[in-house]
Amino acid sequence: MAVQTVASTTESAGSAGRSGSAAPSVDLGPAAALSCRECGHRVPLGPVFACEECFGPLEIAYDFSAYDTEELRRRIEAGPANIWRYAPLLPVPADVATKPNINPGWTKLVQADNLARELGVTGGLYVKDDSGNPTHSFKDRVVAQALEAARAFGFTTLSCSSTGNLAGAVGAAAARAGLRSCVFIPHDLEQGKVVMAAVYGGELVGIEGNYDDVNRFCSELIGDPAGEGWGFVNVNLRPYYAEGSKTLAYEICEQLGWRLPDQIVVPIASGSQLTKIDKGLRELIELGLVEDRPYKIFGAQAEGCSPVSTAYKAGHDVVRPQKPKTIAKSLAIGNPADGPYVLDIARRTGGAVEDVTDEQVVEAIRLLARTEGIFAETAGGVTVGVTKKLIENGDLDPSLTTVVLNTGDGLKTLDAVADTGLTATIRPNLDSFREAGLSS
Ligand SMILES: *Cc1c(COP(=O)(O)O)cnc(C)c1O
Ligand SMILES: [Zn+2]
Repeated sequence: MAVQTVASTTESAGSAGRSGSAAPSVDLGPAAALSCRECGHRVPLGPVFACEECFGPLEIAYDFSAYDTEELRRRIEAGPANIWRYAPLLPVPADVATKPNINPGWTKLVQADNLARELGVTGGLYVKDDSGNPTHSFKDRVVAQALEAARAFGFTTLSCSSTGNLAGAVGAAAARAGLRSCVFIPHDLEQGKVVMAAVYGGELVGIEGNYDDVNRFCSELIGDPAGEGWGFVNVNLRPYYAEGSKTLAYEICEQLGWRLPDQIVVPIASGSQLTKIDKGLRELIELGLVEDRPYKIFGAQAEGCSPVSTAYKAGHDVVRPQKPKTIAKSLAIGNPADGPYVLDIARRTGGAVEDVTDEQVVEAIRLLARTEGIFAETAGGVTVGVTKKLIENGDLDPSLTTVVLNTGDGLKTLDAVADTGLTATIRPNLDSFREAGLSS
């Protein structure tokens, strides 16, 4: 990992980003400090992401002690139909809702009865459909947080390393906020993702290499004068970025009537989303917004990039990097930063981590589309396919309430189902129609 290199240079990148010598104090709502996930060392809020003591990852620590449960619930319910209804639980300034932002979130929780029948789920099956976000993936949630942090720290360029969806989300968020964006992707991504990332007018750079190469390059850029004043949403702004995934947990529970689901199936790329969904659920329990009951978190990967499920099945605590080869490119991170934390969470909650082949991903995309009218990208094929497999293996209990995440839109990964097409081509007359065997 490049954490060590980057940690030693973060300070200069950070102070450059503050555009001046004196660091202004930032007020990010209830966010109190950055805290090391390994050793607990605390530092003030700033554009840093690695612990100065042990190089462990930093995350946001909050002070929620002033909240009254019922008042907080009323405040959330009276809030806007987007992620800012949860502003009291996020690292954002008090006036966040008044500034230009693409305002993602509050996507549909679809009661998937048809899919439940196909899979034999009797306890209630739901699809949290995050393809409904402004740039059609879950990434808008995390970018919205990183954007607010970038503003607070005075960064003028928004950047990222991306497997595709993040590039689009950063481009759109920067466009609306009036910031420059310059984002980096592997050069061989799906055309839908490339167009989606480029159309917002920012700079889009293809790197000859895979995502892990792109990520390593970005870590170098942060430490170099060439990257001064740049806020990398998933590198030096990562602690803020990551908190955006908590809103998925909040929304699922609120949409279930302030109730925890029994089981959630979450896709894994870096593993950040899965770890923050767990953090969000634990916060709701601590705040008294949901009843304290057990829940299980399941992780989903594609077989062609399955470093976390491989470690899980082998009983390992460390994740050995892989070279990705799968159609699920949005999940193709061979060296997932949060892998060990994902293993902890799956084991602690009684969940599991599983993977499916590319063929099963395609099958699952079709299954979700024909049962529920939801066209998922390959990442959604991974979660639905893994759900099916977990039920067949007996790892997931079909008599319990289960939520499956669809994190992206099938229109971005059309190649996966490119052999889908016309049922028939006919002349525009009834005889021709009857001949085709389509009459009722
Ligand atoms: C980025 C992404 C994820 C999850 O990413 P993490 O790095 O694990 O947080 C899931 N689905 C899609 C479609 C994505 O683009
Ligand atoms: Zn530490």
